[in-house]
Amino acid sequence: MKPIISTTLILLAGMLATTYLIQAQPQKPMTTVDKTPEQPVEPVKKTDAEWRETLTPEQYYIARQSGTERPNGEIYQQFKKQGAGTYYCVGCNAELFSSQQKFDSHCGWPSFYDPSKAKNVRAIPDPDGLRVEVRCAVCDAHLGHVFTGEGFNTPTDKRYCINGTILKFVPARSKIPEDKKQPK
Ligand SMILES: [Zn+2]
Repeated sequence: MKPIISTTLILLAGMLATTYLIQAQPQKPMTTVDKTPEQPVEPVKKTDAEWRETLTPEQYYIARQSGTERPNGEIYQQFKKQGAGTYYCVGCNAELFSSQQKFDSHCGWPSFYDPSKAKNVRAIPDPDGLRVEVRCAVCDAHLGHVFTGEGFNTPTDKRYCINGTILKFVPARSKIPEDKKQPK
């Protein structure tokens, strides 16, 4: 076999094995923190080795290899139960979505009808013109796809179909801020 063909085959087999291994495993819960992360002020760039070090294998597979998480997985079930809050990019902490634009599309992946910070979300039509990919504008992580005109009863009739694995959730503060508290 020609070296180039065998190398391609080995790479292909490796990619398929990664997909199988990651999709077959139970999903880790969505990253959830209680404080708003510091917002990046410039593009976040890391080497492949640095991304592998800072992301879990599932996050790396989706964000850096444009993978897709299993639909209707543990992450999606968790997403459906989450209350009010904000969703940030797990790669760079940029704000992406909010529970205010969340809706139930029954598609098996977290769905939003709009980003909460439009400047942090980039839509790129696939070369074949079939779908529009959605990436984080700050660290270039693959987030999912956006579909338009499906007939959902939302203000935009868009469905941002997002991999929950690459989201970091910050629940809305239910506590009353100190200065608004009634004196005892
Ligand atoms: Zn990002």
